[in-house]
Amino acid sequence: MSIKVPFNKPYLAGNELQHIESAIKSGKISGNGKFTFLCHRFFEDRYNFKKCFLTSSCTDALEMAALLLEISPGDEVIMPAFTFVSTANAFVLRGAKIIFCDSRIDHPGMDESKLKQLITERTKAIVVVHYAGVACNMDSIMKLANHYNLFVVEDAAHSIDSYYINSAGKKVALGSIGHLSTFSFHETKNIISGEGGMLVVNDERFKKRAEIIWEKGTNRSAFFRGEVDKYNWVDVGSSFLPSEVTAAFLWGQLENLDRIQNRRLELWNKYYNCLSEISECGDFKLPIIPKYATNNAHIFYFVCSTPKKRSKIIAKLKANGILAVFHYISLHTSPYYKSKGNDNLDLKNSQIYTDRLLRLPLFYELEPGIIDQISNLINETV
Ligand SMILES: *Cc1c(COP(=O)(O)O)cnc(C)c1O
Repeated sequence: MSIKVPFNKPYLAGNELQHIESAIKSGKISGNGKFTFLCHRFFEDRYNFKKCFLTSSCTDALEMAALLLEISPGDEVIMPAFTFVSTANAFVLRGAKIIFCDSRIDHPGMDESKLKQLITERTKAIVVVHYAGVACNMDSIMKLANHYNLFVVEDAAHSIDSYYINSAGKKVALGSIGHLSTFSFHETKNIISGEGGMLVVNDERFKKRAEIIWEKGTNRSAFFRGEVDKYNWVDVGSSFLPSEVTAAFLWGQLENLDRIQNRRLELWNKYYNCLSEISECGDFKLPIIPKYATNNAHIFYFVCSTPKKRSKIIAKLKANGILAVFHYISLHTSPYYKSKGNDNLDLKNSQIYTDRLLRLPLFYELEPGIIDQISNLINETV
């Protein structure tokens, strides 16, 4: 059976190609031009991010974060084991020892109640991942970090247009809370530019240096603003900024962000409603959005009662041309982590999500009728 319903399909929202043409005609297609500026301003205004830097990927933004925090050999960085490899790699590249935290029992995000026992004198940072765009319990994490003088990085790769509701009842955008945050515009995310990402600097102390690291370790940006009379090699850095072609595409998406988000939420809610009744059989559990979080419809997932059940559903859908997938393989069980002579960790909840979480197709152009069909097929397996 060939695939009729892919897991993901990149969506062209409107003016992406016109913006790319306009960038090319303007005679400037290297980075940090008009479209980069438009994207930065959009994010800073809408989400109260202090300073934004588009990057070529979220992976790049995480590497910038590790450079800015001056992570060096011997430093420990705490993060969930249930995440994408880049969350860890960026810090491993700087020589950090990664300390994995388990997921919550009710959500794949990190269990904040298990954080304190992982902090040592060598701990430098906590990296949180808002899985499926659903906030971690940020008040308690920030409080702990402040108490131990640790930096917090939000890996907000899933988290565009999603919020944390703080203890005062105020909605604050994910990505605006940590000292640094990173976003992804990879084609599998809600808002895309093929490959693409962004570093958000919320802590003023990092602003100036972030710009230099972004521009290959030079003060080129200050030079173009006329603040220095020549530009020089002033620090370490790399080529982290994307071209204007990428930024122009991204701008075409951002212009349509509300429409994209509304559509995804509509599809997400339809899945939830269709599957609610079936889930009562106990074969799988639907996702939970805690009171302090909002839903940005990045991922529709559920947790099956057994790995076998998951395989059965995947096979059933596949036999009908529908692709459902799972992720992540918890990093504490990865060949790379094990090859480094780390102790065997027993992270029960991360393991549950590794073995039993299933993601269903979710993209702008998904027909609502397909969701009925998927639900019926799942119903036939229970
Ligand atoms: C997608 C993703 C990344 C990496 O994003 P890229 O833009 O592909 O580098 C990092 N962390 C998480 C949690 C992700 O889902």
